[in-house]
Amino acid sequence: MPQQQTIRDFAKSRAKAQKDIKNRLPVKQRAGMPRFKKKAEAAPTLNYTRRGFRLRDRRLHLAGGITLTVVWSRDLPDEPTSVRVYRDALGHWYASFVVPARTDPLPATGRAIGIDWGVKEIATTTSDAHDLPHPQHGKKAQARLARYDRMMARRKPPKGQKASKGYRKAKRLRARAHQKVARQRQDTARKWAKRVVRDHDAIAVEDFKPRFLAKSTMVRKAADAAIGATKQALVEMGRKHGRDVRLVHPAYTTMDCGDCGARAKHRLPLSERIYTCTACGVSRPRDKNSAQVVLVRAGLIPGGAEGARPGRPQDGQAA
Ligand SMILES: [Zn+2]
Repeated sequence: MPQQQTIRDFAKSRAKAQKDIKNRLPVKQRAGMPRFKKKAEAAPTLNYTRRGFRLRDRRLHLAGGITLTVVWSRDLPDEPTSVRVYRDALGHWYASFVVPARTDPLPATGRAIGIDWGVKEIATTTSDAHDLPHPQHGKKAQARLARYDRMMARRKPPKGQKASKGYRKAKRLRARAHQKVARQRQDTARKWAKRVVRDHDAIAVEDFKPRFLAKSTMVRKAADAAIGATKQALVEMGRKHGRDVRLVHPAYTTMDCGDCGARAKHRLPLSERIYTCTACGVSRPRDKNSAQVVLVRAGLIPGGAEGARPGRPQDGQAA
């Protein structure tokens, strides 16, 4: 507790210094500046580079004479170049170290995979064994989050008044539920990413941009968050193990044929789950077709041979 108070005070004095700088700017420039959270609401963050911190006897010494006892989640693989000390919404303090990335190459497999993101299935891939169904654990938690949202709305203090005990409690509950979902999401994402990266040398990924975060249903929002976390985990895991990860622009992945490359004249209605190509006659689940398009567009044709089309090794998936 005493050391927490020390960091908090230090963070406040830094924030004040930044505010002073901001206030010195001409009014015109200030008008267009982003709105900042009130100091009391904003979670404090402190960043230190090489000279600002030191590790000795597994304790963290920060500039300004602050010494912290750290509970290590794991040993640092290398000398850290910087550290960020911050507090999350639940009031827990963390020290996050930046360590130079080291690649840890995996044995070659001779295989490539294409990945398409979706709402029903988080990831549909060109390999049936690597499809990732939507993790349902988010569902119950989403309902809980919605409940706390309503609770907060009900207890919201009138403008200019201090937040009630009940409001702060609801806020805390919500933050905890949120963190739990995020952790489960990340756990699932990492396990899946590890398997994909272990089994493939080259990975073509639809460069998904969240489309529904601002509006739309809870289901879509949850899917967006899950896809975001999964994609990030995959890219990080691929880099860590020296794999060839290629991001593919998502345009027309649902309209193009993964076999002959012909583009359908019309967008497939969402209810239509099977893609049938009018040019070459191939027919398969639409998401499987999109995954194939992603793979081809990244320049990673299955088997690595251009002429592999007629013998389509992945044809079994159409069943
Ligand atoms: Zn075709």
